[in-house]
Amino acid sequence: EKLDEGLEKTKSSVFSKLSKAVAGKSKVDDEVLDNLEEVLISSDVGVNTTLKIIERIEARVAKDKYLGTDELNRILKEEITGLLDESNSGDATEFTTPADKKPYVIMVVGVNGVGKTTTIGKLAYQFKKAGKSVVLGAADTFRAAAVEQLKIWAQRVDVPIVEQGMNADPASVAFDTLQSAVKRGADVVLIDTAGRLHNKVNLMNELTKIKRVMDKIIPDAPHEVLLVLDGSTGQNAIEQARQFTKATEVTALALTKIDGTAKGGVVIGISDEFKIPVKYIGVGEGMEHLQVFNRHEFVDSLFS
Ligand code: GDP
Repeated sequence: EKLDEGLEKTKSSVFSKLSKAVAGKSKVDDEVLDNLEEVLISSDVGVNTTLKIIERIEARVAKDKYLGTDELNRILKEEITGLLDESNSGDATEFTTPADKKPYVIMVVGVNGVGKTTTIGKLAYQFKKAGKSVVLGAADTFRAAAVEQLKIWAQRVDVPIVEQGMNADPASVAFDTLQSAVKRGADVVLIDTAGRLHNKVNLMNELTKIKRVMDKIIPDAPHEVLLVLDGSTGQNAIEQARQFTKATEVTALALTKIDGTAKGGVVIGISDEFKIPVKYIGVGEGMEHLQVFNRHEFVDSLFS
């Protein structure tokens, strides 16, 4: 039910647009498909992914000869779930980490303002709630506010944080954090990093250096590079994903602010385009407002 609330805006918008798209029609024809294309694009599904969905529905129309508009929801659901499936989006609902990787190290990347700090705080809360011990590392040392904000979250969630203040070497903070986590026998490490996209060479160098230093303590760390994107920014989020995937190997996505947007369709476009699993979605500002992304739940709540 929580997901339903988070997707309220997307749902009501997609839903009302969809019903307009098929109004007065009993059969899926070219006009219905044109309208559907508009609905998907205006929901920020993205042009390429929209065309893919439309083509698949066209193929089904061609095969079945008659496709009733009353069946459109069910078919759209199937096609969208299929797209999310291809991109490896999980079926999980729990906050877990692999048992053989302890501590499990998550390096969090993303541009300022997308909700990176909040997402780290929410993750710390959820992992802790799931019985895991968590350590935070404040390696976004470029902004004083970033370190301060993360400290506030550490206090709120009551987890230890390793920091060296502003302007410290991010790689040194990461090194200390991992060392401290190993010493404590922690289960999960969340490392915040600076997201200065305007200087791509710096960004790439910095992330590479952080990873190299982590490797010295835990050979396969980081186990996850989580890119945080603001889901309400639609095509901007897609552009950021493009830039970050060039700068480092992103293994998972967190899409924030899905609650504040009618454009939740961006989840579908991003999974399809980057083939990187959307692992988490942010559906509010509170610490409990983060969910493990489950494609079935997502698609169900879009169409229910
Ligand atoms: P950062 O600069 O990327 O670290 O961004 P912050 O974590 O400071 O978040 C920026 C703003 O977005 C804050 O006001 C957060 O409360 C808000 N925010 C973060 N995630 C979500 C979300 O899922 N939903 C909503 N509605 N707001 C969010």
